[in-house]
Amino acid sequence: MEFSAELRALITLPHNTAIFSHRNPDGDAIGSALAMRHYLEQYGHKVHVMFPSDYPEEFETLPGAGECLIWDISTEECKQVLAKKDLVILLDFNAWNRIDKMGEYAKHLPAKVMMIDHHLYPEPIADFMFSDPDASSTCEMIYRFITGMGDGIKISPKVGECILTGLITDTGSFRHATNPEVYRIAANLVERGVSDTAVQDRIFNSQKEKNLRLLGHCLSNRMEIIPEYKTGIIWLTKRDYDDFHIQRGDTEGIVNYLLTLREVRLAIFIHNQPTVVKLSLRSKGDLDVQEICRTHFGGGGHKNASGAHSYDSLKSTLEKIKSILPLYKDAILKS
Ligand code: 5GP
Ligand code: MN
Repeated sequence: MEFSAELRALITLPHNTAIFSHRNPDGDAIGSALAMRHYLEQYGHKVHVMFPSDYPEEFETLPGAGECLIWDISTEECKQVLAKKDLVILLDFNAWNRIDKMGEYAKHLPAKVMMIDHHLYPEPIADFMFSDPDASSTCEMIYRFITGMGDGIKISPKVGECILTGLITDTGSFRHATNPEVYRIAANLVERGVSDTAVQDRIFNSQKEKNLRLLGHCLSNRMEIIPEYKTGIIWLTKRDYDDFHIQRGDTEGIVNYLLTLREVRLAIFIHNQPTVVKLSLRSKGDLDVQEICRTHFGGGGHKNASGAHSYDSLKSTLEKIKSILPLYKDAILKS
């Protein structure tokens, strides 16, 4: 990472700063945003963290989570707050359309814009861009940013707890997208006083009974394995949303169960959310699900973890994804 004098001044002089992350914020989104907030506050910044939609309940206890603003819930307040901002930091996304109306509003603000992100194919949307698709998580990049600024000392237990959250969630507890640096950073955070077990507990041991019942339903009644294409599919209908009272975050991680099957290389989770059909794809090895999501559904993400939205019905989305499997047969079998 390179730090120009202008960028250093933006960070080290107090600014009125907004930090954005993507819709349906996950652990990396909220972790990176709050870590950045607690870092910048040490330089006197006045910071607001803002997401287009609310975050899952398990992150409510991350330091500062309760003060985040949600565009969908309090749009007017968000607009008022943004009007005074002179620095906007975009974390864990790389195109304005990933934050919908919040992006349409924010891109016209007279503020300097900085981006830190690890998704493929960034759009040129910031004055200062840090894009590294090889990074495990945006939280890894936040760690590198702060230490690159020579500010390792400012990684307080509070900042570290937020960073470790994103490292763990985006690597599925160090199962994928790891690199040697990820383990070094995690070790360093623990040395700085971050409780790794408390962070893991918050993420993985905080489920409600209905989540486990929903998982049972998915595995028993909504799972199809297609051996010819080494593919597993789980789908959820609108009715399932009602029957299981599914709310934000409740379906997080379900797709990963398909990958636990030895013979599955491609995992597909399709769920009929109240307004849109959402796809989540995961893969093992060299199989590039980002290409599949981008080419056929206008989505994106990472090589082994990508997503997309469709306004077709659940049935036709399922038919469409099955119809394209033959195109990827070689790639799946080679992966
Ligand atoms: P998930 O399947 O967990 O929602 O998302 C997996 C990855 O794909 C995340 O990095 C997320 O940012 C990205 N992603 C999910 N949905 C979309 C989408 O509709 N468009 C794009 N460009 N990326 C997405
Ligand atoms: Mn991420």
